[in-house]
Amino acid sequence: MFPAKFDYYRASTVQEALDLLDAHDEAKLLAGGHSLIPMMKLRLAQPPALIDIGRIAELSGISRDGSSMRIGALTRHAEIAASELLHRECPLIAEAASKIGDPQVRNKGTIGGNIAHADPASDLPAVLIASGATIHLLAAGGSREVAAGEFFVGLLTTALGANEVITHLSVPAQPANSGSSYLKVEHPASGYAVCGAAAIVTLGADGNCSAAALCYNGITDSACNAEAVAGALAGGALDDATIGAAVDDHLAISDPLGDVHASGEYRLHLAKVYGKRALKRARDRARA
Ligand SMILES: Cc1cc2nc3c(=O)[nH]c(=O)nc-3n(C[C@H](O)[C@H](O)[C@H](O)COP(=O)(O)OP(=O)(O)OC[C@H]3O[C@@H](n4cnc5c(N)ncnc54)[C@H](O)[C@@H]3O)c2cc1C
Repeated sequence: MFPAKFDYYRASTVQEALDLLDAHDEAKLLAGGHSLIPMMKLRLAQPPALIDIGRIAELSGISRDGSSMRIGALTRHAEIAASELLHRECPLIAEAASKIGDPQVRNKGTIGGNIAHADPASDLPAVLIASGATIHLLAAGGSREVAAGEFFVGLLTTALGANEVITHLSVPAQPANSGSSYLKVEHPASGYAVCGAAAIVTLGADGNCSAAALCYNGITDSACNAEAVAGALAGGALDDATIGAAVDDHLAISDPLGDVHASGEYRLHLAKVYGKRALKRARDRARA
């Protein structure tokens, strides 16, 4: 399959990318190309112009920024999975990145492209919501920040404006006395999440749960936050029975996706099973 005809531009700075976006209606940014190029080959996307940002050094890299970690939009999944800083401070995102696709996808795909594409089966959205991450956007008119919980709007749809570039993400360091876990049931060919469960739990001085988060990929048309489960766990003991009851009694997901890989009913079943497992593993890691 061949894409429709398009013009190609390569930007060497973020400013150049912004100028090109303003100059070319309906143009698309090209990062790793692992979602956009397949869409173009299938003629599901036919941008008249591509603006290649893949060589803009200022968009790449991982560093500490106060109590958060700064991850450039062009940072590849493989770099995130291998980052010692992230393993230490934000282990949930490093764990999820290590489970994306296969080595080729992890070596080409970028975090900015992944979240801009907003595939419901992507691994990063639920992880970023559970972590309380912030997404930093830049346009010719200025910059703005969007909380991950408000960035993912629906199927392949985000809060990103047409002429905006994702420059970087801020991911808060995981609190002391906490543990996290990302578990997924993956599609056997692509690795995409049929169900991905991201959990973080923090223990108080008494050993009880002082805070929890549980978010899912692959279950609905965009990542969903099981806030009621987290609320039910806060303040209580984190034994297996309490975790089981919190998920069984408080997990409320409407309109689950159903497709050739899994029915909606099966996805809801997976959400319960993997939500409990992810919370238990996060608790065990917090206690270790
Ligand atoms: C075989 C295969 C298996 C995969 N398996 C998984 C998996 O298991 N889990 C998973 O999460 N993902 C998976 N992916 C997707 C992969 O993670 C891609 O990296 C990701 O979806 C897109 O990133 P990219 O850098 O290739 O973006 P591109 O394809 O270049 O761009 C995607 C979209 O993002 C926009 N964009 C890119 N960068 C920016 C930016 N900085 N600012 C604004 N917009 C931007 C583009 O304009 C385009 O609309 C898979 C892909 C393939 C091909």
